[in-house]
Amino acid sequence: MPDTWGQKLAEPLFQSLTVIGCGLIGSSLLRVARRNNLARNLVAADVSPTVCARVSELGLADRVTGDIAASVIGADLVILCVPVGANEIVGRAIGPALSAGAIVSDVGSVKGAVFGALTPLMPAGVHLIPAHPVAGTEYSGPDAGFATLFLNRWCILTPPAMADQAAVEKLSAFWTAAGSNVEIMTAEHHDLVLAITSHVPHLIAYNIVGTAADLEVVTQSEVIKFSAGGFRDFTRIAASDPTMWRDVFLNNKDAVLEILGRFTEDLSALQRMIRWGDGDGLFALFTRTRNIRRSIIASGQETAAPDFGRHQSDPQ
Ligand code: NAP
Repeated sequence: MPDTWGQKLAEPLFQSLTVIGCGLIGSSLLRVARRNNLARNLVAADVSPTVCARVSELGLADRVTGDIAASVIGADLVILCVPVGANEIVGRAIGPALSAGAIVSDVGSVKGAVFGALTPLMPAGVHLIPAHPVAGTEYSGPDAGFATLFLNRWCILTPPAMADQAAVEKLSAFWTAAGSNVEIMTAEHHDLVLAITSHVPHLIAYNIVGTAADLEVVTQSEVIKFSAGGFRDFTRIAASDPTMWRDVFLNNKDAVLEILGRFTEDLSALQRMIRWGDGDGLFALFTRTRNIRRSIIASGQETAAPDFGRHQSDPQ
């Protein structure tokens, strides 16, 4: 595993990196690219003039622009860090301005739909290699980013079967130098895995917080006042960016519905165990799930320390 800060490179991997969309993920990428010398020249682009102004103030790039098409001129690596549903409009804008040989990638939480939207917009000679850093927080915007966001986290690349191997290896080296562990899989498999590990858990959090908010017999102030650890954890997840998560569910429909179907069946089985007083069944399930938590901690993807959102654990 890479150690403290990923790898600070003696020679940058890319001449010019353009990051489009400078929120949590894009600004974190710019920060780590600067810190670890991943590209000689950094260009930041965003539709929002406020975001552009803030990225300039923070000094995150050599050039900051609201002109999305112009931002990719001369870039040998372009990374789209916009909400999943905005990739197509960005692809349409940058397509004609891309240089031959450039690598175009993204960070979207859904891979199949993004690849489908971008593929027809890429000119010949440009390498489209989608990626998803499995790292994030519930915060948005350029101030929320930090250079160590990707450290010791997985970054999943989903190159198409016919992808240029040298380009895949170069993008893989980029993420490794940013501190990530890289895994390669198909877009379809990615979308199913993330549906169970991320998308459906977010949906459950949105749902339970929504249910609590709508309860008539328990007041909102009681929900806030007596929120125990479990509910508090759900509210943290349910505070995630509404645009990002709307786009995730609209673009990973099949996998999410497949996992939700199984989830609903398992929930009915739990309902039955409670109704019939099946303590052994409940105990057996809770023991199995506790072991999954222990495996995640053992793999270094989480700490055992209780936090419940009380501490700021990520360094900026
Ligand atoms: P974010 O903080 O909201 O940043 C997105 C940025 O993109 C915003 O500045 C937004 O501007 C800008 N933008 C929107 N449409 C654009 C367009 N057409 N052209 C240029 N810029 C545009 O979001 P984020 O959390 O960084 O998420 C970005 C991507 O990373 C998403 O695809 C998400 O699925 C993926 N991702 C997120 C996480 C996470 O935990 N947050 C983790 C892994 C991957 P406005 O503010 O004006 O809309």
